[in-house]
Amino acid sequence: MPDTNLAVPPAPPAAPGAPLPDASVPAATGARRRLERPTSAQPPRILWSYAAAIGGYHLVALLAFLPWFFSWTGVVLAFLGLYVFGTLGINLYYHRLLTHRGLVVTRPVEVVLAILGVCCAQDAPARWVAVHRRHHEHSDERPDPHSPLVSFFWGHVGWMLVENEDLSRLGIYDRYAKDIVRDRFQRRLERYYLPINLASWAVFYAAGFLASLAMGGTWMEAMQFGASLLVWGVFVRTVLVWHITWSVNSLAHLWGYRNYETEDDSRNNAFVAVITSGEGWHNNHHADPRSAAHGHRWYEWDGVFQAIRLLERLGLASNVVRPRAVPPAR
Ligand SMILES: [Zn+2]
Ligand SMILES: [Zn+2]
Repeated sequence: MPDTNLAVPPAPPAAPGAPLPDASVPAATGARRRLERPTSAQPPRILWSYAAAIGGYHLVALLAFLPWFFSWTGVVLAFLGLYVFGTLGINLYYHRLLTHRGLVVTRPVEVVLAILGVCCAQDAPARWVAVHRRHHEHSDERPDPHSPLVSFFWGHVGWMLVENEDLSRLGIYDRYAKDIVRDRFQRRLERYYLPINLASWAVFYAAGFLASLAMGGTWMEAMQFGASLLVWGVFVRTVLVWHITWSVNSLAHLWGYRNYETEDDSRNNAFVAVITSGEGWHNNHHADPRSAAHGHRWYEWDGVFQAIRLLERLGLASNVVRPRAVPPAR
């Protein structure tokens, strides 16, 4: 599929054994470069649909601070959900599988992973993939949609709050995500993105409501328990997964060490690696985007890749792309 070249825009063709960019390079020293916002995002105009959604989720998540919405089951679901939805849906499926084609999974597994990813409210895959491929093509240059060299806030979330003509749907799909929109399953995800999310809200609420009634709770107790699972299991979890995903764009382009001299400012950030189950080895990733493994040294723990290896052993994943090389010992 010719389009999959887009999965590795800045990298040379992945000839077997081809050397990675110059290794064992220390972090760049001196003053940090500054970038202007992309010209296509000037002058800044608020993108109300995204601003309202991001603000709205945060506001609902704040209900978690009210005792009426608290339950330990909700808290456990929220934190389990960070892994189930964020790690498997976004990091494994949206990022390593779809954007970079680092592996292939069986169709039933793909359906499950895709639904988990859609429930993270980070757009349907086509747009996510297109924006991320553009990031790789222009990393930390002015057309990069979310370089934190503009500002930390811009790289973390600000870039989504203003209109950016370069990211207008049809244009960016045509340039970066033809392989995604050509797939009928992906077009369905795009079409049913909102209903899938709403259905997931209903599932969390109904599970709590019915479980409470089944255990002899009153109607009011059932409503309260259902609401706690909705607030914690959906909204708190979604907001946390957002900030975890966004921290790769912000923190992992600002702070950390570098194994490879890439042309961008990507870093290996251990904190981000822990909260993302391995996506924080971001300098490794920019040096070798197609590799399904982001941890290249023995101590670079990569929980996403562990999940991929488990799927591979179970016969549910194949064509798993390994790193082209490992950095020399320091
Ligand atoms: Zn990056
Ligand atoms: Zn990537």
